[in-house]
Amino acid sequence: MRTDLFQGHDYFNMDDLLTEEQKLIRDAARAWVKQEVSPIIEEAAEKQVFPQHLLPGLGEIGAFGPYIPVEYGGAGLDQISYGLLMQELERCDSGLRSTASVQSSLVMYPIWKYGSEAQKTKYLPKLATGEWIGCFGLTEPDHGSNPGGMITSYVEDGDDVILNGAKMWISNSPFAQIAVVWAKNEEGRIHGLIVERGMEGFTTPTMKGKWSLRASDTGELIFDNVRVPKANILPEKSGLGAPLGCLDSARYGIAWGAIGAALDCYDTALRYSKERIQFGKPIAAFQLQQKKLAEMITEITKAQFLTLRLGQLRNEGRATTAQISMAKRNNVDMAITIAREARQMLGAMGIMNEYPIMRHMMNLESVITYEGTHDIHLLITGMDITGENAFK
Ligand SMILES: Cc1cc2nc3c(=O)[nH]c(=O)nc-3n(C[C@H](O)[C@H](O)[C@H](O)COP(=O)(O)OP(=O)(O)OC[C@H]3O[C@@H](n4cnc5c(N)ncnc54)[C@H](O)[C@@H]3O)c2cc1C
Repeated sequence: MRTDLFQGHDYFNMDDLLTEEQKLIRDAARAWVKQEVSPIIEEAAEKQVFPQHLLPGLGEIGAFGPYIPVEYGGAGLDQISYGLLMQELERCDSGLRSTASVQSSLVMYPIWKYGSEAQKTKYLPKLATGEWIGCFGLTEPDHGSNPGGMITSYVEDGDDVILNGAKMWISNSPFAQIAVVWAKNEEGRIHGLIVERGMEGFTTPTMKGKWSLRASDTGELIFDNVRVPKANILPEKSGLGAPLGCLDSARYGIAWGAIGAALDCYDTALRYSKERIQFGKPIAAFQLQQKKLAEMITEITKAQFLTLRLGQLRNEGRATTAQISMAKRNNVDMAITIAREARQMLGAMGIMNEYPIMRHMMNLESVITYEGTHDIHLLITGMDITGENAFK
């Protein structure tokens, strides 16, 4: 196990545009990750388990609900701080960031934005500390890119509803205490329900066999006549726009997270290229290797500014879904390209778990697919600029 030697890279002095608070939050998260996560992340990925002992620490650094108001247990931070936290987590591992993203944007966000006061006070403080973990059930076995076609549904029965159906590919489901589940009512309208572990007929089988995002637990959600109190339905928003609103927040976090993974690959390749001697000189002295490094830092820098601007727009409540889509698509693609190039720069060592690059590369194959695939985000941009819907 190597010491985590990561150093940030800020080629265009972006730090000058950050507040002292934002820098402090980022640096504290980086220090925590180096101390608590870097030493164990390779083993967790190899064993294919999420290291649950990290949950309280994630709560302490503010990674669960960073922008949720303090009165509900959140950190009350701005959107750029949220982004920087996601960057630092994914700098170590996309699975670590996924757990925080799901908790913050896909569980706490809908409860905060669409929930009743009773739901907010019951769930948010425990989710903020990591005492409870949540998951988000939208994708189904037969409905991925087209979630509006979902078949999970419920019927009313007195003060309760009876829920039936199944969700697949659900991050954190195997150990989550609650699930925010999207299901159709008797009129076919989509609503969010909070389903709690222990409700009869509700099970969460683990999905094994992933070569990607191995340090994140993924599972199913099965509902077999689950009786859910009507009080657990999120009252303030319904329709497909409700889950899509959560995805905006999560995709924004991914845009920052992908920069973190790219930075780690670049940093590793840069250091290695200065140390590795071939033909009597460091490989960093060869033009071909310099081209790779120069292109990496150029792409990282472009992504940093695109995403910082997006954060400013989100702070002002002006970021559009299409802008978020473009940033998620661009940055994940940028990160996966850098991971592939960086892996080659390390030669045979690039495939070893002594270095993080291969793990990042495999992780990013999930990140480029979930929360809207690379192709789907292109169609969102296409629709935005032409006014033509090419989805169907
Ligand atoms: C590790 C992991 C964790 C996940 N966690 C969660 C979670 O917590 N909660 C959750 O709800 N979901 C989760 N997902 C699911 C994820 O969001 C879906 O996998 C994703 O939306 C794509 O759906 P799909 O896999 O069914 O692919 P499909 O929708 O079947 O797409 C297959 C291919 O067809 C393309 N395609 C589809 N429609 C079109 C079209 N109209 N035009 C052109 N091309 C098209 C796609 O781009 C893709 O390349 C997770 C997935 C992974 C891998």
